[in-house]
Amino acid sequence: MLTFNDPGKLQAWCRLRRQKGEKIALIPTMGYLHEGHLSLIAAAKRKNATQIVVSVFVNPTQFGPNEDYDKYPRDEKADVTKCRKAGATAMFFPTPRNMYPEDYSVFVNEDRLSATLCGARRPGHFRGVCTVVAKLFNIVHPHFAMFGQKDFQQVQVIRRMVRDLNFDVEIAMAPIVREKSGLALSSRNTYLSDAERTSALAISEALRTLRRKMHKVSKLPAGDVKKQILAHLVKNGLKPDYVEAVDAETLAPSETIRKGVAVMIAAYAGKTRLIDNTII
Ligand code: AMP
Repeated sequence: MLTFNDPGKLQAWCRLRRQKGEKIALIPTMGYLHEGHLSLIAAAKRKNATQIVVSVFVNPTQFGPNEDYDKYPRDEKADVTKCRKAGATAMFFPTPRNMYPEDYSVFVNEDRLSATLCGARRPGHFRGVCTVVAKLFNIVHPHFAMFGQKDFQQVQVIRRMVRDLNFDVEIAMAPIVREKSGLALSSRNTYLSDAERTSALAISEALRTLRRKMHKVSKLPAGDVKKQILAHLVKNGLKPDYVEAVDAETLAPSETIRKGVAVMIAAYAGKTRLIDNTII
């Protein structure tokens, strides 16, 4: 497995691989890798990628001023070992300075899907995400890029960016990987105390209960379900940021929960903001 720090060197290497007829997959991450990230490598293999490039970059432009950029967990060495074992063929560890020179001045804004949910609570977040992903697409020029459903709004925003800016990249989404307890894996879970971790289970529990209900009926009123989920989160000591039922394509609010609706949750366990979702 190769590792790169310099965008130009990775770009030249990827260009050569593409010319040789190889199928290149890109997996953008912020590192501190867990089984959720590694499932994206496995998915890229199943899609017959011959080169799997994992980028690890805690992207400063997607963090708000009061967010956790400085304390975001980092462990480059462990990430390299895990990626090698999982079958990645190259890793990219850029520095903030070689991604964003001092006089950097171009950003990508997606204005519609970014306006709700996490985008509404984290101003500038998806501008940072779109900008860094656009840069990674231009550096790697992958045949496809893998993203996790864990960040479902992110997937839809990136799909829109790809459509609207005519990027020559297929976007593939992989399911959410969970602990046995149901908790969705996240690098941020490392912030949780034992008590907060127990509280956090309420999020996946609420979604599991909903999925179970939806096996028996074809629709439910979103208002009632949202109320029940909010109450469950609060009862378990979480501070909900939002609980929303939205159309999975447009992310517009939905009055009913039915096929094609995504139920999206963001909640704080202590100071840690957790997200999860289910698509009916
Ligand atoms: P991050 O490092 O948090 O920016 O995540 C990098 C990629 O891994 C994103 O596409 C995430 O959606 C995906 N990812 C993170 N956690 C999970 C998970 N538990 N299951 C599946 N994919 C995940």
